[in-house]
Amino acid sequence: MHRNSSILIFGGGGTIGSSTALHLARNGYTNVRVLDVYPIPSAQSAGNDLNKIMGTSLRNPVDKQLSIEAEDMWTQDPTFSPYYHRSGRANCCGSLNGIEDLRNTMTKLQEAGLGHTAEWLDTEEQIVQRVPQLAGSDIHGWKGIFFEQSGWLAAAKAIESVGKELVHHGVKFSFGNSGAFSSLILSNDGKTCLGAITKDGSHYLADRVVLASGAWTPSLVELEDQCCSKAWVYAHMQLTPEEVQDYAGCPVVYNEDLGFFFEPNEDGIIKVCDEFPGFARYKMHQPFGASKPRSISIPRSHARHPTDTYPDASEITIRKAIAALLPRFNDKELFNRAMCWCADTADANLLICEHPRWKNLFLATGDSGHSFKLLPIIGKHVVELLEGTLQEDMREAWRWRPGSGDARKSRRAAPAKDLADLPGWRHDSI
Ligand code: FAD
Repeated sequence: MHRNSSILIFGGGGTIGSSTALHLARNGYTNVRVLDVYPIPSAQSAGNDLNKIMGTSLRNPVDKQLSIEAEDMWTQDPTFSPYYHRSGRANCCGSLNGIEDLRNTMTKLQEAGLGHTAEWLDTEEQIVQRVPQLAGSDIHGWKGIFFEQSGWLAAAKAIESVGKELVHHGVKFSFGNSGAFSSLILSNDGKTCLGAITKDGSHYLADRVVLASGAWTPSLVELEDQCCSKAWVYAHMQLTPEEVQDYAGCPVVYNEDLGFFFEPNEDGIIKVCDEFPGFARYKMHQPFGASKPRSISIPRSHARHPTDTYPDASEITIRKAIAALLPRFNDKELFNRAMCWCADTADANLLICEHPRWKNLFLATGDSGHSFKLLPIIGKHVVELLEGTLQEDMREAWRWRPGSGDARKSRRAAPAKDLADLPGWRHDSI
């Protein structure tokens, strides 16, 4: 790699792809092209959303390092800091398992030397003191952890901010059919990736190709079932100006049995999510490099299909979350209900490595539904991979690892159900 090496980033309008382009540009690379189906922030990126939770992950040393680096950039870097809202975050639960998980989290935080960042909430009174908006909820028997130095990220706006910086650096862009990945250009012996062909037939030659196409990646190239594309859902509610006043500054409330909500945005809109193991959508499909079609889960873009609904089961669980967390709003109309797609790996670690079949093709995916918070920092490590300087524990955690587990279940409570089996999911036939 040298500073004028040509680098293509597919999925560059999304989370990991835009971050990769940003770090390349900041490091002085002058020949970077971002390609995506939609312009930044891509309308179908999992990160194109009102808000995401900012939190520290302690699953392993790599996650802990990334969380600390990300927190630093979300607070210090002017491209990101305007989009980090430190409203605080309360993880609360009433079930036996949920309370045990909270206690384990507290122990892990203490072991990691981060005990001071969390406050144990042992009584309902202590929970309501930290989150007065829960006063009207049935939180009998709940325990919680309050994180003062935490909150939410204005997700779509943050990716848009990255896009503006990319323009400033002179990064090149191809969107629509001329940015949509179709296939690879390979050397005569089929072992080296020389570039890629997009849906409109354009040929782009390049020294490095990065595939950061999120939930779409397993349908684009052969990943040997290391990633399973899954959808999660959300819905929105409109508050009145009086209600906005009551909920302004409300910490993010997360309940692992029910779901989570955020304080209203500047337009008085609250987003609510339920918690469940995700939905898959199995179809016969042959990704580039596969010898024949097989059944794999393929995302269905809400941006392209805005009239799609979500399953009846989601309406029930989102309403259940509202009844428990926001009972005052039980009768509110829900709007902009949508599914958003992520790529789970079996062990919930990222898949960031060179593809073993094609030299110079790099994968940057496997977000496993918890990677938006890494937006400012993850691209730095993708660039290190391209440059051959990625630290050993990251290389190990993010390596090519087919056959190492079941991505359809991942580390969740159950395998993802197929949307085809779920009543209420209405969609056109395309
Ligand atoms: P994306 O951001 O989805 O980017 C993939 C890109 O690839 C898109 O721009 C897409 O247009 C592009 N693409 C697709 N096909 C092609 C093609 N053929 N050619 C070119 N480009 C293509 N994370 C958190 O940290 N905190 C949270 O609170 C949180 N909450 C979530 C709530 C929900 C409901 C969901 C669904 C996810 C949540 N996440 C959260 C997870 C987070 O959003 C994802 O982990 C992250 O955004 C994934 O980033 P990505 O770059 O892998 O994929």
